[in-house]
Amino acid sequence: MSSRTAIEWTDATWNPSTGCSEVSPGCAHCYAKMFAERFRGVKGHHFEQGFDLRLWPERLELPLRWREPKRIFVNSMSGLFHPEIPGRFVARVWETMQRAHWHTFQILTKRPERMPGLLGELGLQEPPLANVWIGTSIENRRFVQRAEHLRRTPTAVRFISAEPLLGPLVSKRRRWSDGYVGPSLCLTGIDWLIVGGESGPGHRPIQPAWVRDLRDRCQARGVAFFFKQWGGPRPTSGGRELDGRTHDEMPVADGIDRPRRNHSTIRATRRPAAAGRRAEGDRVAHADDRRGLEQPDRTASSVARAIAALKPGVPDRKIAGVSDASPTPSTGIS
Ligand code: SF4
Repeated sequence: MSSRTAIEWTDATWNPSTGCSEVSPGCAHCYAKMFAERFRGVKGHHFEQGFDLRLWPERLELPLRWREPKRIFVNSMSGLFHPEIPGRFVARVWETMQRAHWHTFQILTKRPERMPGLLGELGLQEPPLANVWIGTSIENRRFVQRAEHLRRTPTAVRFISAEPLLGPLVSKRRRWSDGYVGPSLCLTGIDWLIVGGESGPGHRPIQPAWVRDLRDRCQARGVAFFFKQWGGPRPTSGGRELDGRTHDEMPVADGIDRPRRNHSTIRATRRPAAAGRRAEGDRVAHADDRRGLEQPDRTASSVARAIAALKPGVPDRKIAGVSDASPTPSTGIS
């Protein structure tokens, strides 16, 4: 957890929980796991417990102490929608994000199937917070259906991280040239796509054609496109240029334009619900598009009301989608 980070598309990280468990092939070289496990058993270290899941209630209000507006990556060392994180704890995270309205929070998950049900049960979905972006990771075509769960989740900005990109996500036909049968990545309702190759020992190489297909599809749909890196032994090994230039577009949805590192911006149109039913290419750049988003209101916080309405003593497993026995989505979602 840090008020600074080297991740290109964010300013800071905030980890109210740490630890996670593997979901799909994109987890094979999980940086967070490798980092955390180095400190397993080191007395007093943040990662004394390695990458085992741990909640840190004492960190819940940390962003309130950062007065300068930042883009904050939530749970860079964990997964907010991990099945073992109680809904009540997710609600506390939401409460902080609403109170810290001067920040933009970026939540990224490989478990988007838990989001719509849980946030709905907690009363946190409507209206969505204007300063919260939610994304899902999609590493290969088997997992493009994660975008469907994301589309069902009202939020200010929806984004997809195709990193590490392990295969093509776009095909003209449902039957792909190699015989695989399945859908392409659909960008309807998506505001931002991040693409990156894997880095580190045993990195799996990325193909330029996969990246170009995604860039072209983003350009055709008006989706902000951010190319993070080619990957290799080190994150910087292959550089960041695609066809002679970098691609650093970012969405702007909250009316607070805070480009950094010369990023260009594309304003996102947000809709309070059923965004997935809107046609692609219908995003326009007007502040009025933020109607229906929750604006800062510290005197009548709907999030606080939602948390207060949670009945004490109700086990979290009673909340839809929350169960220690929840299946991981490594199969059955593509
Ligand atoms: S879901 Fe993310 S944090 Fe969890 S193991 Fe996979 S890559 Fe690591």
